[in-house]
Amino acid sequence: MARRKQESEVATPERVVHKTEKKILLDVQNLVKYFPVRSGLLQRVSAWVKAVDDVSFHIYSGETFGLVGESGCGKTTVGRTILRLLPSTSGDVVFNDKNIFDLNSQDLKRMRREMQIIFQDPFSSLDPRMPVGESISEGLRVHTDKNSQERYDVVVEMLTRVGMRADHARRYPHEFSGGQRQRIGIARALALRPKFIVCDEPVSALDVSIQAQVLNILRDLQQEFGLTYLFIAHNLSVVEHFSDRVGVMYLGKMVEVADRDELYANPLHPYTQALMSAIPVPDPTLNRQRILLEGDVPSPLRPPSGCRFHTRCPLAYEKCTLEEPPLKDYNEEHYVACWLVEDGEPGDSKIDPAALPATTVPDF
Ligand code: SF4
Repeated sequence: MARRKQESEVATPERVVHKTEKKILLDVQNLVKYFPVRSGLLQRVSAWVKAVDDVSFHIYSGETFGLVGESGCGKTTVGRTILRLLPSTSGDVVFNDKNIFDLNSQDLKRMRREMQIIFQDPFSSLDPRMPVGESISEGLRVHTDKNSQERYDVVVEMLTRVGMRADHARRYPHEFSGGQRQRIGIARALALRPKFIVCDEPVSALDVSIQAQVLNILRDLQQEFGLTYLFIAHNLSVVEHFSDRVGVMYLGKMVEVADRDELYANPLHPYTQALMSAIPVPDPTLNRQRILLEGDVPSPLRPPSGCRFHTRCPLAYEKCTLEEPPLKDYNEEHYVACWLVEDGEPGDSKIDPAALPATTVPDF
């Protein structure tokens, strides 16, 4: 027990830089985002939805950081707060050594050229009354002094890069399929040549056959332009395919962060283990047991005390209900927030499906 405590270290970006010699492009520090709930005649604030509560992580330059978790866990809110599309409640986001929450409107406008977003829904993220060429060039008009011919040249170049034709620039969004619209969304995000893109569930609204196309385009563009991605998704197979490192969120908290291969081979947090057990295995001879969590995700209006996962965790014990586990590095940038990992012996946080009630472990 004592040995594991000595090995654990608080997750600080400085330590990671020293260890890996990689450059951190985006450093999210203790990010908090609460939404007010108003009620009564005077619409006074009666409660707060704790969508993101003290989340910290960093993204290295040129990597893809996958962010996963169930719907409502706060991952999309993290992405939008990072870009200042939503105001934060507290915390800091340092991008390229500048705290974006401290920027004035002029500096923020400059910063927006470097940070873009690809939205989840390709049907609603494009203005239906605007030809796609105008949608793609809108950012160029706002952020650069390029003339209309130069903007058109960029539009054609971007459309070509995402596998579309120059004449598509004159057409309207309703003339395209979902996959084509998402490619237009990618072209729009790329037009300003950003360094960093938040990909907010970019393929979840697309057919499976189209998802691979769009992911391959994103991968090719990353290599070509040296892009850094925050890849938000709930499909763990897609995240495994696409990410270099992965963060797992539960009810507004980051519960585990690790290198992709390490996380998928050795998930330490019980919630991550339950998520991993739900990934379909394309081998009918494999008899894998899925860990079914009991109960629903609690409301972020009144999150549980201590570890937020304790109401559903099959390994919870008394300390879990009283104190919140910190996110700590246990093994070469494998960060976990779990008391069993902190206090126990190696392997203590592993859920043994054989020890669970039959209702929570169906065979398939
Ligand atoms: Fe489960 Fe306790 Fe670990 Fe939370 S801290 S994941 S409740 S064992």
